[in-house]
Amino acid sequence: MFPALENAIALISTLPGIGNRSATRIAFQLLRSDERSVQELAEALVDLRRRMRFCSECGGLCEADVCEICEDTNRDRSAVCVVEDPGDVFAIERTREFRGVYHVLLGALSPLDGIGPEDLRLGELSRRLVSGHLGQTPIVELFIATNPTLEGDATASYIMDRIVPEGVRVTRISHGIPTGAAIEYADQSTLARSIRARTEMHGSAGRRGFDG
Ligand SMILES: [Zn+2]
Repeated sequence: MFPALENAIALISTLPGIGNRSATRIAFQLLRSDERSVQELAEALVDLRRRMRFCSECGGLCEADVCEICEDTNRDRSAVCVVEDPGDVFAIERTREFRGVYHVLLGALSPLDGIGPEDLRLGELSRRLVSGHLGQTPIVELFIATNPTLEGDATASYIMDRIVPEGVRVTRISHGIPTGAAIEYADQSTLARSIRARTEMHGSAGRRGFDG
């Protein structure tokens, strides 16, 4: 009946976590706004897509092909910190407790939301673990800093049991961060403590621990 409205609702509802009802509410809110602010929003979205990208190496955010952390020759490439989202990289960087490089999964395993291993950057992680960074430094420690949630813990176990080759030490962020909390929003000193107190992970079945 109103193609412009229906089209907008259909497109907005493709965004994560936004169903038809929320999409309809957003569309009506936009209809009530003045045209210039809607134009600004539309341009910001296009600008975002044009200017930002994910680092081809770690999957973090950058405006070039490779991010500043991956390009920094002072970083320890033998230690790789695995996180769910690019925002986690910024949170961990603020603590200055980790001098290695990162690997951003862009999510966590969540069967209920239909997010399986193939939806995360696990293939890339596997390749990095086998070849080392650009075929140079072998990875000695994989520090898994996925969130201390059901999904984050399941993802950590999956990586430990299915991705990590023998001989790589696997550590997990300590439970200083309350269970269910997000690393990105943890306060800086708590996060710093959790990084310093990271503990060694051992596989649940089949795979023996590093020292086993
Ligand atoms: Zn990077």
